[in-house]
Amino acid sequence: MSYQALYRVWRPQRFADVVGQEVITQTLKNAIITNQISHAYLFAGPRGTGKTSAAKIFAKAVNCHHQKDGEPCNECETCKAITAGTLNDVIEIDAASNNGVEEIRDIRDKAKYAPTQADYKVYIIDEVHMLSTGAFNALLKTLEEPPANVIFILATTEPHKIPLTILSRVQRFDFHRISAQDTFERMKYILDQKGFQYEEKALWVIANAAEGGMRDALSILDQVLSFSDDNVKLDDALLVTGSVTKQLLLTYFKQVVQHQGPEALKTMGQILGQGKDGQRFIEDLISFIRDILLYQESPELLSVETTGLQTSDFDELSQLASAQLMYQMIDILNQIQDEMRFTTHPDVYLEVLTIRLSQATDQQPQVDQASQKEMDQLRGQVQELQQLIQKLQSQPAAAPVSAKKTPRRQADTSKTPPVRINLEQVYQILDHATKQDLVDLQDMWPDILNMLNPAYRSLIELSKPVAASPDGVVVSFDNGFLLQKASVGNLADDINQGMEKITGSERHVTFVPSAKWPQIRHDFLADRGYFDHHQDKKVADPIKQPQEKAHEQIVSQAQKMFGTDDVEIKDD
Ligand SMILES: [Zn+2]
Repeated sequence: MSYQALYRVWRPQRFADVVGQEVITQTLKNAIITNQISHAYLFAGPRGTGKTSAAKIFAKAVNCHHQKDGEPCNECETCKAITAGTLNDVIEIDAASNNGVEEIRDIRDKAKYAPTQADYKVYIIDEVHMLSTGAFNALLKTLEEPPANVIFILATTEPHKIPLTILSRVQRFDFHRISAQDTFERMKYILDQKGFQYEEKALWVIANAAEGGMRDALSILDQVLSFSDDNVKLDDALLVTGSVTKQLLLTYFKQVVQHQGPEALKTMGQILGQGKDGQRFIEDLISFIRDILLYQESPELLSVETTGLQTSDFDELSQLASAQLMYQMIDILNQIQDEMRFTTHPDVYLEVLTIRLSQATDQQPQVDQASQKEMDQLRGQVQELQQLIQKLQSQPAAAPVSAKKTPRRQADTSKTPPVRINLEQVYQILDHATKQDLVDLQDMWPDILNMLNPAYRSLIELSKPVAASPDGVVVSFDNGFLLQKASVGNLADDINQGMEKITGSERHVTFVPSAKWPQIRHDFLADRGYFDHHQDKKVADPIKQPQEKAHEQIVSQAQKMFGTDDVEIKDD
């Protein structure tokens, strides 16, 4: 028999087995006992917290004829078929791979028909935030007129990406991160059941590393078990978990306390590249610094083995920074955490954070000239980033930052190289641009972004397609700094691949800073002779000034190509 992953074998089959979500499971059981079942639910929460497990248990409990106190029997044909995923009336959809409108239209058509084997037809749509706008609209229509005996359970890790129109029609449950204690207990239970040996310290290391996700915890446990049969050892647990995130956090801390801003920015990129969100990054950093503070105060205060790091690490770290400095760092972290709460651009805040942390000192430093220069540059970066934040807060979609005000990335470069715009390519696209291509592409843009490497996603939230032809697209960036980052990476290739998957055709991607876009557009129209073309006809309309009329002509041409939004042609 082939090995089956622990998280599959030990997937909860009853509400009682769903760890750490007692309020939610009790409410769901009550709904079943009292037969007050809603036609749509939203299960929101971090990954691995039991959302889809709870959804499947709910699907069983509503359909099981032998349910007891709201729990499915797990013995009858219906229960078994749902567990095995073979019951036609319980349909699981992964929106991350099926984000097309067609899929949801299909649901709409099929949902009309009564369930064939079970009492309720249950649609479980996982990662529902990945649906495209079109698919959400189709789903909304179904939720507005819910067919009888159909239940929708929408699961998501990112509820803020779900339209309000949908949110207002579902009963929402927020799943919480599972505490290290609960995770520890569950692993202990499983290992006891299997008759395996374990060191409790090893389980603590895993429980901490899993960061509130049971699936992650069990996957790590699987890996640790693969080191030594039937025995979970602390050394192996440290080997498997201690490595990645904690080591990066340690590196980041060392870099900021040694005022290495640019290096720390790179490390932060790596940490976020592992899929950690900004808030979580800050939380982790705060608890990491608290650990160091505790250790500095007195090594006995900290049980080092539960942190995933070694005593030698803490010896070194507590030498590097004074308590005063670390308290100051925690202040900065708390402050940015507050400011970040409502932003859709957390990456910008995190960059400010990193630079501020790397400037923090506990005294007036005696600095030599070289590091003074570096400090001045960092200060400049902070100012620029703070200006950018103000801009983002006051006018979310407008007011681009010109390329020359771009913050500097490298401490050793005194000037940011100018952003290179491939005008030839832009003109080629504009020559064949149509409004329809642009509208189509703007529609699909969120879907295309969703297909990108997560490391890029925040980068291009400040982007939008501004012109499109059947084989090309011009994408504008609100911020020259980000544009520059995009231009050196493989972002264009990635976008192209995403587009090919969604539209089925290849398109050239080229980037422009949005500050320059009106000018580029204007120059193009002038270059292609829309002015001259008009001059010939000026006699026909003697009332209007030629110049004025020319502008009108350009505006109308521009509207044909780019749609009606924000077309404004400035006088030269
Ligand atoms: Zn049953």
